[in-house]
Amino acid sequence: MSGDFARKAIEHNDKLTQAYRDIDILRNRLAKAEAERDALKKLVYVPGLWRCAKCKFSRQSMNLHAVTGTISAKADATTEPCPNGCGPLWPVTERLAGNDLCDRLEKAEAHAKAWRKFRADVEAAEYNHGSKSERFYSALEIDLALAEIDAATKEKA
Ligand SMILES: [Zn+2]
Repeated sequence: MSGDFARKAIEHNDKLTQAYRDIDILRNRLAKAEAERDALKKLVYVPGLWRCAKCKFSRQSMNLHAVTGTISAKADATTEPCPNGCGPLWPVTERLAGNDLCDRLEKAEAHAKAWRKFRADVEAAEYNHGSKSERFYSALEIDLALAEIDAATKEKA
């Protein structure tokens, strides 16, 4: 009977030892996964860039290092409320920032195209009428042209 108890105690002890090894292995895996997650976070989010999901207000949070005179992105991940009172500011992903950049580029291209058309119209008017653009384009005509440019720009937004 006591031999049976001793054998069971040894088996139990072996199982316990194995369980502690397994726990150590899992702890190491968790630590590696957390380190990997933290490294990926740095790749996913634009450092220090925050945006309101509602009103699109965005803020670049920077730290000024007075001793060295350098500037770096604010590293802490604490959110702040939107100054417009909508809710919290969220970290901006690299993908979102890239898409925004593409949108701004398209908008700028539409704006530039509208301005080139406007300038071509003015030059054509000068050529056709032999007059100065100021005389051909009244203030009202310029306002209409600018409204057209704004409309062309807003269509892309
Ligand atoms: Zn907001």
